[in-house]
Amino acid sequence: MATLYFHIPFCKRICSYCDFYKVGAMELLPKVIENLHHELDERSTYLSERKLTSIYFGGGTPSLVHPIEIERLINHARERFDCSEVKEITLEANPDDINEEYAVALAQTSVNRVSLGIQSFDDRVLQFMNRRHTGTEAEEAVKRLRAIGIENISIDIIFGIAGFGDSHLSESLQRAISLDVEHISAYHLTVEERTRLGVLVRKGEYTPISDEESEREFLMVHDALCDAGYDHYEVSNFAKPNLKARHNSAYWQGVEYLGIGPGAHSFSGNNRTWCTSSAKEYSEGEYMYESEELSPVDHYNEYVMTSLRTSQGIDLEYVERHFGKARLEHIERNASTWIEAQCLMRHANRLFIPSTRFLVSDSIIESFFV
Ligand code: SF4
Repeated sequence: MATLYFHIPFCKRICSYCDFYKVGAMELLPKVIENLHHELDERSTYLSERKLTSIYFGGGTPSLVHPIEIERLINHARERFDCSEVKEITLEANPDDINEEYAVALAQTSVNRVSLGIQSFDDRVLQFMNRRHTGTEAEEAVKRLRAIGIENISIDIIFGIAGFGDSHLSESLQRAISLDVEHISAYHLTVEERTRLGVLVRKGEYTPISDEESEREFLMVHDALCDAGYDHYEVSNFAKPNLKARHNSAYWQGVEYLGIGPGAHSFSGNNRTWCTSSAKEYSEGEYMYESEELSPVDHYNEYVMTSLRTSQGIDLEYVERHFGKARLEHIERNASTWIEAQCLMRHANRLFIPSTRFLVSDSIIESFFV
């Protein structure tokens, strides 16, 4: 089994915190779309698996692409792969792109899951982040998607934002919960150097929140969403029962994937390849790739990292079977300190971080690396 990803690196407006590769040169979009088809033809043999389980349109802003073009790409994938087991086709969307006309056109496609970059329902926070939409537009987008029959909706929210008082996060969480969406991704705001937010920090005009405040907000998000019936199944992800993101879960399970588009990454079990991040070159049909082979140590470290980020945690039997007794002993030796500190739990053959401690998962994970 494998997954397929299309990267659409275009954005109409740049968010103040965003460090992803993206371009505003919308005139390149038609050529890039055309070349997504060409690259798909050229690269479909990269995967040893021919059966896909999910297709994902990520960005940037995939909702800048007309649904007719999205469906053409899906149909092209059906020509290249066995898509009989594809249960999830996700489109990332900006709320203000989901107007009546776009929603009606989207209803004609095979997209069955939409991930909305809402981030906050507070208009002051949205302005600070330089987002294009308002809180009300975000709610309208969810209702429009429901009206066209999208039964699986995910929304992104951001917490850990300084300067807006105590109530904006709890209000945003309540508005998110009242929409009754199937999935919520909640990310802590991080300050990246090469962003507008990074400039504000350097000028002394923005001070990130303290570690204590981060932890308080993280637990606020955790408690509110878990009380509302969501399972905190990965560091930043919450799902209603049986509605975990299939595509992202496949990444965390080490499943092969093919990424198509400028900046997209692919993984075939032992090799990782990525297309260089230039929409200009890509639009001219010049796809440059870089790649690396994964060593047994890389495989082990990746397994530790991806599994400890989820509530499933490390399967100790799997570790012994795939990486050997020495690695198993290494894990068991390091685990005891974390278990004593109640940052790690053991249940039968599983070693996992309790979801209330996910915020410190990076330090725990690093301690198991070799
Ligand atoms: S829409 Fe997404 S990719 Fe584009 S600038 Fe904002 S956060 Fe970055």
